[in-house]
Amino acid sequence: MHHFAYRRGVSHASVLHAEEVDLCALADTVGTPFYCYSTATLERHYRVFAEAFAAAPDTLVCYSIKANSNLGVLTTLAALGAGMDVVSEGELRRALAVNVAPDRIAFSGVGKTKEEMAFALDEGIFAFNVESEPELRALSEVAASKGLEARIALRVNPDVDAKTHHKIATGKAENKFGVPFDQAPSLYRQAVTLPGIMPAGVHMHIGSQITDLSPFRNAFALLSELVGTLRGGGITIDFVNLGGGLGIPYRPDEAAPPLPTEYAALVKEAVGDLGVRLLFEPGRMIAGNAGILVSRVLYVKPNQTKTFTIVDAGMNDLIRPTLYEAHHQILPLVEPTPETPTRITDVVGPVCETGDYLALQRPLPELHAGDLIAVMTAGAYGAVQASQYNSRLLVPEVLVSGDRYCVTRPRPSYDDMLAAERLPEWI
Ligand SMILES: *Cc1c(COP(=O)(O)O)cnc(C)c1O
Repeated sequence: MHHFAYRRGVSHASVLHAEEVDLCALADTVGTPFYCYSTATLERHYRVFAEAFAAAPDTLVCYSIKANSNLGVLTTLAALGAGMDVVSEGELRRALAVNVAPDRIAFSGVGKTKEEMAFALDEGIFAFNVESEPELRALSEVAASKGLEARIALRVNPDVDAKTHHKIATGKAENKFGVPFDQAPSLYRQAVTLPGIMPAGVHMHIGSQITDLSPFRNAFALLSELVGTLRGGGITIDFVNLGGGLGIPYRPDEAAPPLPTEYAALVKEAVGDLGVRLLFEPGRMIAGNAGILVSRVLYVKPNQTKTFTIVDAGMNDLIRPTLYEAHHQILPLVEPTPETPTRITDVVGPVCETGDYLALQRPLPELHAGDLIAVMTAGAYGAVQASQYNSRLLVPEVLVSGDRYCVTRPRPSYDDMLAAERLPEWI
């Protein structure tokens, strides 16, 4: 469900709109490529998720900033009452910049530095998701030196197969994330004795784009068992953090992923009677369908065996096809007529890499130089991973609400790009 649809346009019969904004007109104003986000879609997805847990009043939905950290997006979600899940000081500063209360922020990640820990402690965040024994000791040192107490959840790796792409599976024993399930009790016993550490919760996040509920069911059953073990050992556990990971549809023809209500029913069954506060860290599920990447066709280049459609957005703007072999639906901004022929084409960017593509061997309505396209479902793990590779300008981001839009991150100039660097004095 999203708010990008064909409607009567300013200069064409039927043009893709973001809510009420004509995307062809927007492309003429902002220039291509650019990301475009829908406020209505962000709000809807946050509400659908949060309302699935309305019966469990002590629930905190911490939007996972790394999916899309645009300040316009974060402000929109913060206004709905979202907490935030951060994985760096930079993300923590973004959450604070949009006035998220520190006690609604959880800090994850395997490589937090002591400086990051100190900053988060000073700000008084809700909890640290601790991923190893050495990290636990480092946090203890930092907190004790400040006379503060860090509330922690150990991130437990349940060794379950999340049945997702191997680059976004995080809950298998061979992944770098979390502590092994069977070592968790002894680490908690150790945590209790460490100065500055207050064990209070258990955390799990087993992967992303999970479209089958059974890995969650298995993981949460283990988590519930662990809470029982810890309580049996006299450790107080007052929250569990079940992470994010709920999948979204990327193809119009694929089976719909589980609904938040189905996920909520599973959660209730697995941990409903533990009497704990529930935390969640959804990212993709909130932002994925709320964003698109708009690009213009530069050239159509036939070779002996195939046709390349060369567009002005590349892997530096959207790396998901290259990194995760991800499929993104591509729509022409001007709606094709029934007479438009379909052609099979590779949609590629200008970057000097064979891996620079947005779609391979894709049947698409025939495209011509100058045509505009939308790469759908690009709101999560899109702009956040953009780079300046090939010295291409960082792609701008636009947030739409109704018939209004705001360029929340403008395209830098080439002068800005060059001014960010310094020359050595010895030449
Ligand atoms: C990435 C991440 C999430 C968000 O995952 P989604 O699949 O986008 O919901 C949540 N928690 C942690 C710890 C993460 O690293």
